[in-house]
Amino acid sequence: MKYKVLLIEDEPGLCLTLKDRLQKEGYDIEVSTDGESGFNLAANQAYDLILLDLMLPKKNGNDVCRDLRQMGLAIPILMLTAKTQTVDKVLGLKIGADDYLTKPFEMQELLARIEALLRRAMRTFTAAPLVYQFGNIRVDFRKTEILRNGEAVTFSAKEFQLLRYFIDHREETLSRETLLQEVWGYSSVPYTRTIDVHVAWLRQKLEEDPKQPRWILTIHGLGYKFAG
Ligand code: CA
Repeated sequence: MKYKVLLIEDEPGLCLTLKDRLQKEGYDIEVSTDGESGFNLAANQAYDLILLDLMLPKKNGNDVCRDLRQMGLAIPILMLTAKTQTVDKVLGLKIGADDYLTKPFEMQELLARIEALLRRAMRTFTAAPLVYQFGNIRVDFRKTEILRNGEAVTFSAKEFQLLRYFIDHREETLSRETLLQEVWGYSSVPYTRTIDVHVAWLRQKLEEDPKQPRWILTIHGLGYKFAG
């Protein structure tokens, strides 16, 4: 499994450098050079982390971040800011950025921050069951692999973590709050729609008919239950 990183940055030189380096480090990286298209990508694709420049054409980084959070996206966002910009970090944290890095930065520093954010996102999962099978789906936890009818399914780290939590707690009714706390690591409950978005993605990938789910059931008014 590769982590998918979205870089939203309008400096061509920095884009090239970062893309090149992150690919070498094993990340799957996509680049967007303005805030509007970056927002659309982030809203419609499953990424594990976003690197977000503050000053961007069409839509600035703060607005991108705030709007993504408002629509329920909870993946880590690392903001990149120029040294000359006075950054209101309190505002930034309020609108949902996880961390800041001031340009110019050392590549090692950036890599360390990315790893820390991804590790924090992954932390919930330390126990290691091996393989779990339900219907035509086979989940291999050791290889971090999902097969559907023997064919590999692509997924983000967060989708995998969520599925894993479901499997570990099968037949339990799980509230959105519980899932946010356990899978996303939130102690308060800012964006419950995040769960619905990720469940919808998982259903698309795992269910024969995502509208009539057989595995990930909606328990009305309470949350979700995995029935595999
Ligand atoms: Ca910029």
